[in-house]
Amino acid sequence: KMQGGTSAREEKILVLVRLRPLSEKEIARNEVSDWECINETSILFRNTLQERSMFPTAYTYDRVFGGDCSTRQVYDAGAKEIALSVVSGINSSIFAYGQTSSGKTYTMLGITEYTVADIYDYIQRHEERAFVLKFSAIEIYNEVVRDLLSTENIPLRLLDDPEKGTIVEKLTEETLRDQKHLKELLSVCEAQRQVGETSLNETSSRSHQILRLTIESSAREFVGKGKSTTLAASVNFIDLAGSERASQALSVGQRLKEGCHINRSLLTLSTVIRKLSKGRHGHVNYRDSKLTRILQPCLGGNARTAIICTLSPSLSHVEQSRNTLLFASCAK
Ligand code: ADP
Ligand code: MG
Repeated sequence: KMQGGTSAREEKILVLVRLRPLSEKEIARNEVSDWECINETSILFRNTLQERSMFPTAYTYDRVFGGDCSTRQVYDAGAKEIALSVVSGINSSIFAYGQTSSGKTYTMLGITEYTVADIYDYIQRHEERAFVLKFSAIEIYNEVVRDLLSTENIPLRLLDDPEKGTIVEKLTEETLRDQKHLKELLSVCEAQRQVGETSLNETSSRSHQILRLTIESSAREFVGKGKSTTLAASVNFIDLAGSERASQALSVGQRLKEGCHINRSLLTLSTVIRKLSKGRHGHVNYRDSKLTRILQPCLGGNARTAIICTLSPSLSHVEQSRNTLLFASCAK
């Protein structure tokens, strides 16, 4: 159970699995799905065609969602509680992991908007505190960090701050005015993500995107009187590079350089997640990739984590879907 409380340090990572519906194009191509959510926590690969040596297999997670489930249902199943812990000063991260075109961006967009709506709702109901919301957005491509809110296409450096840990130098931080402002900023990010690339799909399959919302709040009666009770925390929405990059990168090819770096961030993340899920307190290699360095304060410790693993239903993607489910099993 993911109820909040004092045992946050030992809390497990919430692992959700979402199967998207077959698209109209896939239906037109006569593609079929052999996956079925058999209950709230298990997804089954039926293997009705008896392909290769695969047996029918059921995989079990905290929750699974079939093609008829909405993003709202995914959000309500636990992502909400984790994301909203930010208002109590607890850092959190929500990841979308899965192959390209499995529904990562679709899912994260909805989750981000629902979270922001709920945060504004919370703020309105807590007039005794003064809140400031800040938004920043970065992309990690080839282990190069770029600011998605800036039109200057320059790589940003990571610095080690004695108090804050790793910080991204010169990163734009916008103070959010309202939800409409967020929507505007999200479309700026979308446009920035396409800069210099042949197609959006190419970019998003190779890069990681981190949207970060930082909330500071203090009791109004203390504001400006020095003696404040300020809470500050961040919630991160991470739209990961296509998980096929992790396996493809292992084979030598013309895209090796890109593959290698994406491999590094994805593989380091997998290692970190696996260690955290086992509750190990030994060395966690956050510093091995830009992604994990940036997210370090929001992973492990008291921070809360949800991973939404997205699956393409099509039989032609069954290999990638199984890889995704194996990753999800490691994170549990
Ligand atoms: P990814 O970011 O993993 O590459 P997208 O989020 O772009 O994948 O999804 C691929 C396509 O499928 C998009 O056109 C998206 O709108 C659609 N899609 C994804 N998930 C769902 C869903 N649960 N319901 C309906 N359409 C979806
Ligand atoms: Mg995407």
